[in-house]
Amino acid sequence: MGESTRRQTTVSGPVHLLDHEPPPEPTPGCAVCGALAQQRAEAERRGEWSRATDCSVEMSRHPHKERRR
Ligand SMILES: [Zn+2]
Repeated sequence: MGESTRRQTTVSGPVHLLDHEPPPEPTPGCAVCGALAQQRAEAERRGEWSRATDCSVEMSRHPHKERRR
């Protein structure tokens, strides 16, 4: 009996890299998100990536109750 072991070479599928998630975009019209976006841009200029990430997280978590129907 021959070996019928097939190696499935997985084609490069969707890889979930949390560190490479696209940064959230600030909600237009929201002052807080706008400020966070500016802080994030400044932090990126200074090379403060942890601070920039914090801004992104804060922005993504910022609640927006006003929803236009
Ligand atoms: Zn906001």
